Amino acid sequence: MESLWAELLTNIAIVAIAVSVWTHGHHWIDARHTLLRSLAFGLLMGVGALSVMRFPVEVMPGVLVDLRLSMVALAGFWGGPPGGLLAGAMTAAYRLQQGGVGAFAGSISISVATAVGIGAHLALRGRTTRPRHIVLMAFILSAGCMLSFLALPAHVLEVVASQAILPTGVLTFVGVLVASFPLRHELLRREALESKRIYKSVVEALPDCLNVKDPQGRFVAANPATAELMRARSSADLIGKSDFDFYPRQIAETFRKDELSVLKSEAPQTFEQHLQDETGGTIWLSTLKAPLRDNAGAMVGIITHNRDITLQKKLALDLAESERRLAYALSHMADGLAMFDKDGLLVLCNEQYRSMFPLTADLRVPGTPHATILRAAAERGEEDIAPNQVESWIESIAGSARTSGERQVRIADGRWLQIKTSPTEDGGTLTLFSDITAAKRSEAALLQSNEKLSLLAHRDGLTDLLTRRAFDEALEREFGRARRNATQLSLLLLDVDWFKNYNDHYGHPAGDECLRAVSRCIAEAARRPADSSARYGGEEFAILLPETDAKGAFVLAGTIRTNVKVMRIPHVASEKKVVTVSIGVATFDPSKPGMGRADLLRQADEALYAAKAAGRDRIIGWRPQAPRVAKAG
Ligand code: GH3
Ligand code: MG
Ligand code: MG
Repeated sequence: MESLWAELLTNIAIVAIAVSVWTHGHHWIDARHTLLRSLAFGLLMGVGALSVMRFPVEVMPGVLVDLRLSMVALAGFWGGPPGGLLAGAMTAAYRLQQGGVGAFAGSISISVATAVGIGAHLALRGRTTRPRHIVLMAFILSAGCMLSFLALPAHVLEVVASQAILPTGVLTFVGVLVASFPLRHELLRREALESKRIYKSVVEALPDCLNVKDPQGRFVAANPATAELMRARSSADLIGKSDFDFYPRQIAETFRKDELSVLKSEAPQTFEQHLQDETGGTIWLSTLKAPLRDNAGAMVGIITHNRDITLQKKLALDLAESERRLAYALSHMADGLAMFDKDGLLVLCNEQYRSMFPLTADLRVPGTPHATILRAAAERGEEDIAPNQVESWIESIAGSARTSGERQVRIADGRWLQIKTSPTEDGGTLTLFSDITAAKRSEAALLQSNEKLSLLAHRDGLTDLLTRRAFDEALEREFGRARRNATQLSLLLLDVDWFKNYNDHYGHPAGDECLRAVSRCIAEAARRPADSSARYGGEEFAILLPETDAKGAFVLAGTIRTNVKVMRIPHVASEKKVVTVSIGVATFDPSKPGMGRADLLRQADEALYAAKAAGRDRIIGWRPQAPRVAKAG
């Protein structure tokens, strides 16, 4: 039995050597393909298995017990399927080549070990191998190996059962444990090294500054970005130095103050720091400082992470500045301004907009839908809209907001607003409201004075009859109409008799009064709306009578002449001793072609001349040949 245990120890030593070779030599092959690594591990374990088979413990003639099964299972478990299969195949081939009574059972047990190792590897794929996994795998392997003794011929099994099965099981179990724990340790060490390497490359490639300082503010570690920011040659240059070695005293002191604050609070803090670059510009940093603790939890330093936020800071400052300018412009502009988004929500407005609509100012704030504002304006009587028309009014405003436009509206309190709408690029609307009440008032006043002016231009100041110019326009208009409508048009020209003498005798003011009295007689007689009575010049008057034939014109002329006479205005310088008038009459007859406007005037003038010549105080109508007296007073 002594020899048996010596062989067993030899077996364990071979396993340990194989594991040692792997843990010390695997870095040669780490960078290679996984398949190559798996095969290399399988080869090593296979060689190990063949080696242990060279020192088997022969419990009975032909029954060999050794650690080959542990080696084969380890190859699959730690190396994966290719390595497991390689080691299994090598071992099985060797065993079969050895032959003997246990060759078949031996091959079965090798296959079982291969399957258990690979199966456990696959079951754990992607997960960290824990000690309990190793123990479980070793246990299943041992059980499987012990069961494979059943493959021995019955007479052999009977003899070896008590002596071989248990040692084989125990040996295999122990072999797996002996090899797996160092392998697991090595694997974890490799993983830790790998993640350390990854972290290091991430930290080195990081554009942000990352560094660690001791409580005295001296650099313990720093990445290249930190060195660049501090204008040091390399990260190594920073080690052992502090901010005071790189920055002006004043800046270094502010940075140190932040560090002391973190050291005191023992909690992470964020600071906004700034310093000068080589051109004198300001660099802004967002700095996170967190305590670094040892395993016992004691604070041993400070981890600092700086991010350059100069650009963000500049953008934020620019944005704040333009917002300030916008706010200034909005609050100082005379107009109300409101901007609605594509969903009809108010997004921007100024105070003037709110104060233009005092009854709904509470709703005219960002976030309120346009329809809600309009509905409230109608309900609260700010806009004069009939209740049954409110919805269609809101719809029409929403519709007009989609196109550029300008409209003037009068709101319920009598103010006039000019509303200019233009669509914005993002599908919303920009609306400008101008209070044009004052302009509207001036416009109305201007219209009124224009009317007055035009009245003045058309009315003679002394007599309030039409002026000569207005008469000319009326003559042109009525002559054209008479021609188009084939109606007659009569014209009376009236002149006060001996009026020069009247003036000379009674004075000019009295003459004016006399002219006013005569004009009243004319206005009272020519009362049809279409009739136009004008002061033609001096003490001459013209009366235009549309749709009036010569007979009608004589009747009207007679009325005027009589009306003047019956006023009995004394006129000592006249033969009649009262003021009298002479009237010439002419008529346009559409049935007689060839007569123009000037002809009508000329004929009336000739008739008046004839009346004067015939002794005054009379009415004469124009005749084609020699004018003759038609009626005398
Ligand atoms: P006749 O019977 O031939 O018309 O004689 P007459 O004196 O009226 O003659 P004439 O037409 O030459 O005189 C017109 C006078 O009318 C001359 C002018 O003094 C006077 N007159 C013209 N316009 C005005 C006016 O606006 N006011 C006054 N008071 N007199 C006027
Ligand atoms: Mg005259
Ligand atoms: Mg006269």
